[in-house]
Amino acid sequence: MEEQAQIELVKAFSNAHGAPGFEREVVKLFKQQMAGRGDTTVDGMFNALTARAGNTGKRPVIQLDAHSDSVGLLVQAIRPNGLIKFVTLGGWVPTNIPAMKVQVRNQLGEYVTGVVATKPPHFMTAEERKQVPTVADMSIDVGTSSREETINQLHINTGCPIFPAVECEYLPNQGMFFGKDFDNRVGAAALVETFDQLSQADLAVDVVASLSAQEEVGLRGAYVTARKVNPDLAIVFEGCPADDTFEPDWLSQTRVKGGPMLRDMDTSFIANPLFEQFAADTAERIGIPYTRAVRTGGGVDGAAITYWQGAPTIVIGIPVRYEHTAFNWTALSDFQAATKLAAALIADMTPERIASFTQVDD
Ligand SMILES: [Zn+2]
Repeated sequence: MEEQAQIELVKAFSNAHGAPGFEREVVKLFKQQMAGRGDTTVDGMFNALTARAGNTGKRPVIQLDAHSDSVGLLVQAIRPNGLIKFVTLGGWVPTNIPAMKVQVRNQLGEYVTGVVATKPPHFMTAEERKQVPTVADMSIDVGTSSREETINQLHINTGCPIFPAVECEYLPNQGMFFGKDFDNRVGAAALVETFDQLSQADLAVDVVASLSAQEEVGLRGAYVTARKVNPDLAIVFEGCPADDTFEPDWLSQTRVKGGPMLRDMDTSFIANPLFEQFAADTAERIGIPYTRAVRTGGGVDGAAITYWQGAPTIVIGIPVRYEHTAFNWTALSDFQAATKLAAALIADMTPERIASFTQVDD
């Protein structure tokens, strides 16, 4: 795609709302964007699969995955004063939730603006100012003063999803996007962009893009998509937490504008080392920057996919600053480099090369 189209694509995916279990809006956008590039099917979890136009059904299958969901909140109950008691969907740090602007999707499917309520400092004791708030004590204020008003007039009640309210901007001077949910909407956008880059390619493999749901609550969608695709090889796009604003240079393994991150391991997953090295060599060959990362936290869809039948799997991370909060940064150049790498890997893939990643004899 032209650069301007890439920018609009990332912005559209960032602005779409998709908390775990509530990915429908992201899937709708994905289906629209994939039209003409292959057939898209959607299941009851809102997992989407797009089989690339040109697949034969007779060649090894590459699963190109990204998860569709981002951390969000869910209405648990309405308090007597009209405020919303909520639970978290996915991993939030409690201190990052207060004072956030949100959109609550009500039972009619309309968005209602709200804010995570905070006690003004004027009313706080010295002791209270030092305390870390707990999610169970937090509330969302949608401008009402009674339970009846919230439930009957705004149609908000138990089970309504809540999303950060942030409009994505592209800042050309920095070459950066500022917005929400780049974990993992940059990955979702990368599926579309990679298919676009391969649109004229004559491949030796079949490719199925999977937009897997509910990653943030335990890779749940990817366990399903892996079974459906039955891949011989997998590449997972992930918006990975950037460490460049708090780690020293020598330890920084996911840098904004440092190119895609190839994840050797995290707590869920170890990449196939032969495929991982091939990906690193390919990045060198096509002249894009990259980093490799050994992580002591985190988890990725790659785990669920490789656990299905042992397909060699790698994760291509696009660095995202401050993920799992409402406000993130990510670089256009990293999005471009990550998709270029994935397209090059797929364009180069042959049945023999895939088999080589499982070889144990010299
Ligand atoms: Zn993610």
